[in-house]
Amino acid sequence: RIYLDHAAAMPVDPRVLDAALPYLTEKVGNPSSLYNEGLTAKSAIEEARGRVADLINAEDTQSIIFTSGATESNNIAVRGTALRNIRTGKKIAASTIEHISVINPAKDLQKSGFAFDRIPVDAMGVVDLEALNGIVTPETAVTSVIYANNEIGTVEPIPEIAGIVHDRGRYLHVDATDAAGRIPIDVQRDGIDLLTLSGNQLGGPEGIGALYIRPGVREQPVIFGGGQERGLRSGTENLFGIVGMGEAARIAGADMQGESRRLAGIRDRLIERILTIDEAYLTGHPVKRLPHHASFRFSRIEGESIQLAMDMYGIAVATGSACTSRTLEASHVLLAIGLRHEEAHGSMIATLGRSNTMEQVPMVVDAARETVKRLRAITPL
Ligand code: PMP
Repeated sequence: RIYLDHAAAMPVDPRVLDAALPYLTEKVGNPSSLYNEGLTAKSAIEEARGRVADLINAEDTQSIIFTSGATESNNIAVRGTALRNIRTGKKIAASTIEHISVINPAKDLQKSGFAFDRIPVDAMGVVDLEALNGIVTPETAVTSVIYANNEIGTVEPIPEIAGIVHDRGRYLHVDATDAAGRIPIDVQRDGIDLLTLSGNQLGGPEGIGALYIRPGVREQPVIFGGGQERGLRSGTENLFGIVGMGEAARIAGADMQGESRRLAGIRDRLIERILTIDEAYLTGHPVKRLPHHASFRFSRIEGESIQLAMDMYGIAVATGSACTSRTLEASHVLLAIGLRHEEAHGSMIATLGRSNTMEQVPMVVDAARETVKRLRAITPL
């Protein structure tokens, strides 16, 4: 099989498993306990925190809190920041191509009287800086922009966005779920106040994530309890997940340059060859895109049928975001870049990872060409 859906789920790096497994068996302890096992657990967590901080050049290891995943980090970043800074204004802003775990907490805040402003993007998915400039005001408690979009791969001009948000004296949250470990992220250079990270997207386990909170940013919890993670995220720590995520962050930092260059080569060949298929188009930015990300749309066919047909050739690809495909709605991201509903349905996304090679490209392209031909022959569209 050829697996091309690393954005949906990634295999855990064997080194991650080696590092983290003992914390499920012999090295078990609650980090809040003062005896030896507790102290061992606590120090493993602090080491992992340091590794995650290093990956994004955070100024202080304590600026990282561990969460259950990117969804929770996004919820804390949007909801926790908005509620804690309510006195500066009841407004929040987010781009139209945010993940639903940013959009839905923002929508929920509207019930508490917040205004939710949406920042448009252009046809390639790049945030419209002029629009942003007009939308963000000193009353906007938090502005959320994705570092690089999971469906179209476009990388946003984060330093420029941060400049505009900071001009108003407000906070910028960036969802780096798909960008971290793929392109260099430096929260200090980029001007990021809050940053969402996912453990699995770094090559670590599922069910763990992190949120970077720049020292001095006013934040409040979304989950209340025993006061772990500086009181911002109560609940006994996921020791296995945290150690795994720390090791994944270390490996990502060390391997990123070489691996991203390798994957970008495969990506470019894949894009070049897929675009020779009749009425196939690239979605997202041709250059400013994630190194492991290739996304397309084919006219007059359905994404779900592409996924099923490719599966029969032994190839796993995505169509839209795995998180929203259950609803069968057209992707809000593809609509935001200006596609019509029927165009937004025919999408195919390939996100590459370690198991992928240049030799797989012709097989994927042949399967896609056959699939598209067969589906068009039977389509009512
Ligand atoms: N943000 C982005 C940009 C994502 O791509 C995803 C998942 N693919 C999430 C957030 C949510 O991640 P999780 O489901 O692991 O919480």
